[in-house]
Amino acid sequence: MTTVEKDVVARVHYTGTLPESGEVFDSSEGRDPLTFLVGHKQMIPGFEEELMGAKKGERRTFTLEPERAYGEKIPEAIQQIPIGMFGDIAPEPGMTLMSDVGPFNVVSVDGETVTVDFNHKLAGETLQFSVEVVDVRAATAEEIDHGHAHGPGGVEH
Ligand SMILES: [Zn+2]
Repeated sequence: MTTVEKDVVARVHYTGTLPESGEVFDSSEGRDPLTFLVGHKQMIPGFEEELMGAKKGERRTFTLEPERAYGEKIPEAIQQIPIGMFGDIAPEPGMTLMSDVGPFNVVSVDGETVTVDFNHKLAGETLQFSVEVVDVRAATAEEIDHGHAHGPGGVEH
């Protein structure tokens, strides 16, 4: 199996850019390739769709609208909470903190009230990716059963 399709393990190098500003928001440059089991919701939907059929060594560049990336920003995910909820942490705008329901960003602090945003940082953004397929191999039955890749770059257990 030499192309990207469901139930293969792909290893890719990628650079993600915001097309409007040219800002690189994420890249595997200088790191090990990103390794993932294709077709098991490990990646944002458009990322896999655009790589389907790509061969080892192939490079693809594509642009994803928010609905195929991190979705649109949900207004209800922006909330105001009392500063007392932060305990020992002094919240500051721009901070990313962890809660029971996932990470959130501190938008602003106004006296006793903190405005926080549970939207993904890239929600509402159009994203451009340049991806090089470093390796493609068939997944093992165990990997398909677990829903993730094992071995280098995958889950070690
Ligand atoms: Zn596993």
